[in-house]
Amino acid sequence: MSTPRTFHEAKARLASGSVTVQALAQAALARAKEHAELNIFLELFEESALAKAAEVDAKLAAGTAGPLAGAIISIKDNLCYAGHRVSASSKMLEGYESPFTATAVQRLLDADAVIMGRTNCDEFAMGSSNENSAYGPVSNPLDPARVPGGSSGGAAASLAAGICHIAIGSDTGGSIRQPASFCGVAGFKPTYGRISRYGLIAFASSFDQIGPFAHDAADVEAAYRVMAGTDPLDNTSSQRPVEETPTKTSSLRIGYYRQCVEHAGMDPEIKAHFEAQVGRLKSEGHVVEAIDLPMADLFVPTYYILSTAEASSNLARFDGIRYGHRSKTAKGVDETYRLSRTEGFGPEVKRRILLGTFVLSVGHYDAYYAQAMRVRRLVRHNTVQALKSYDLVMTPTCPTTAFPKGHISDPVAMYLQDIFTVQANLAGIPAISIPTGTHSNGMPFGTQMMAKPYADLQLLDMAKRCFS
Ligand code: GLN
Repeated sequence: MSTPRTFHEAKARLASGSVTVQALAQAALARAKEHAELNIFLELFEESALAKAAEVDAKLAAGTAGPLAGAIISIKDNLCYAGHRVSASSKMLEGYESPFTATAVQRLLDADAVIMGRTNCDEFAMGSSNENSAYGPVSNPLDPARVPGGSSGGAAASLAAGICHIAIGSDTGGSIRQPASFCGVAGFKPTYGRISRYGLIAFASSFDQIGPFAHDAADVEAAYRVMAGTDPLDNTSSQRPVEETPTKTSSLRIGYYRQCVEHAGMDPEIKAHFEAQVGRLKSEGHVVEAIDLPMADLFVPTYYILSTAEASSNLARFDGIRYGHRSKTAKGVDETYRLSRTEGFGPEVKRRILLGTFVLSVGHYDAYYAQAMRVRRLVRHNTVQALKSYDLVMTPTCPTTAFPKGHISDPVAMYLQDIFTVQANLAGIPAISIPTGTHSNGMPFGTQMMAKPYADLQLLDMAKRCFS
């Protein structure tokens, strides 16, 4: 008997009594073990997952099960789950067990999801290929010689390998949408503040958002609905009630950025596919217009100045004394700090701490940090302004398909992976990548859709309308 690929299929099967949650959980765990060579999971939570599955089966029988009963979910290794280890894929947190649970994870558990394990990612969520993990890279299940994208590479791969129904990741500059595009699944970054960040190991706090991956927008929505909403434990979580889906039945007004399509690094097949989508949406009666993207060249530099500044501050707590790995050979306070951080952090994390400390330093603050803050405000203003005239704005999610492991060694070239995705984080708006095409090299790619702040459910609704 085949196991259902999506949560909504699993739900239907559970309703007909042809499967149990315990069987679904067992199948998922078995499949994860079969695919151990892909290095997707850093740990399977076998015991707690099977215990939860048994509890949910009993609740289903009693008619008291929550909305995610039957959903088998993986969580990125930067989300805390009480009594379980979490490492941000870093040596710095090796062996650390969280004493508390992230609000998003708690809400999934309260809705009766089964959390099956923690997925590999780039160290402290810094990267675009999952090659920065201290525990080795993840292989793309569709072609193991290629990367799955990053930083939530294990999350996207856990779906692409057919292991779980939903994966939870985090997106600071594209870390949900880019791996979704590379692995042929849907990945959603909600409006900043819509899902509580409590219990998410911080990278860049004014950008970080937790969000779901799934095989389709319907399952993305199921997970989003459960996780969204205000949380007293995160004072940047929005107080606004989560809106109901306003179903717009008339034709949509869609903008797309001329600069993205014309971008020099754009793969010609992805470009042609995008243009064909534009044509199709027009023929379906939507208004689709090319629009200008002011300051596009500033997005990536602005993101890297601000996110590294925030990271240098957030990661200061990992000093071997308050938190994190402590060097065994260090003598004295200074050496303890220095050696603990030298041994605990990998090269990319160190690069970002150095860069972030530099842009915040007295002599350079105004030239870099303060200036980048001004640019960010303009980007947000321009983006929200454009979205006043359009229901959504569309771009290819990435200029290329998943690249071979080891292919990009220059950090700046890697940073340019984020070219189309960082805008949504700079502006705080919701954005989703939907798998829409397959390249002649056999790899999938996605289309990104962005909407107004807090139009999250509207965006998911439009994604279903435009691409199903
Ligand atoms: N690739 C981007 C970076 O390396 C995005 C990471 C993320 O969204 N967590 O910063």
